[in-house]
Amino acid sequence: MSVVRTAKAAYAFRFDATRSRYFYYRTISLFSGHGEHGRDVRRSDPISVSSFEFVMDRIGEPFMWVQSDDDLAAWGSRYSWMLTPAPYAETRLAGLLEKRVCVKSPIGLFWDVGIRGRAASRRIPRAVRQRVLTRDKNRCIGCGSDGGELTMDHVIPFSRGGETTEGNLVSLCQRCNQSDGNQHHPHLFALAGLHHGWDPDLLKTALTSETKSYAVMLSQNILVSRVRLNESWMGPPWSALDAVSTRALSDVATSGGARS
Ligand SMILES: [Zn+2]
Repeated sequence: MSVVRTAKAAYAFRFDATRSRYFYYRTISLFSGHGEHGRDVRRSDPISVSSFEFVMDRIGEPFMWVQSDDDLAAWGSRYSWMLTPAPYAETRLAGLLEKRVCVKSPIGLFWDVGIRGRAASRRIPRAVRQRVLTRDKNRCIGCGSDGGELTMDHVIPFSRGGETTEGNLVSLCQRCNQSDGNQHHPHLFALAGLHHGWDPDLLKTALTSETKSYAVMLSQNILVSRVRLNESWMGPPWSALDAVSTRALSDVATSGGARS
């Protein structure tokens, strides 16, 4: 693969899956605006190429430069991050650069509400509530009480953009929930046995304190989104991406995000 470094700043994308004519991807988003319900309005931002190279090297993630349609096809079949300079991204991948309204997942990722669907609503579906109660053994995870009615608490508050999923909900008695207020109490993740802090899919190398710290840093700046496949911006390479979609699809599905 020819690698021609033409830029100090570039957009970064990782191909996740194609499904129902949608292209799912991760990208780095550094800045945000504020939307309703504490949600972030995010978009892909150009990032420092040298910093990105450094972090990818530390966490063992491969990436490649994409500056042409031929590069794009090769990237899809390799299933990795890509860096693309602004002129190519803005002309051929413009759909990936649009603003997205996001909910925040427990592992720190920003998810496009278009993917997250019901997770972007405050209302807790009965089935989700039941699974949370079962996981928490029908007790308050704060004080252990099993008397009285248990409430569902968003660990990352809904009013701060936290999503409504099992990964962000815990069982609390009314007293513990009231003292909880509108704060983010990450220790509740640990009490409920929930993973918190970084996208486990980022780490291809052994988990050490160093790799973990980079994975955490990167996770706080990842936007997960999708865009409808469109011949005008994806063109022929789309068939190459389709070939690896089955493998990548499980990532999206287990995150609870994919809907057909
Ligand atoms: Zn309690």
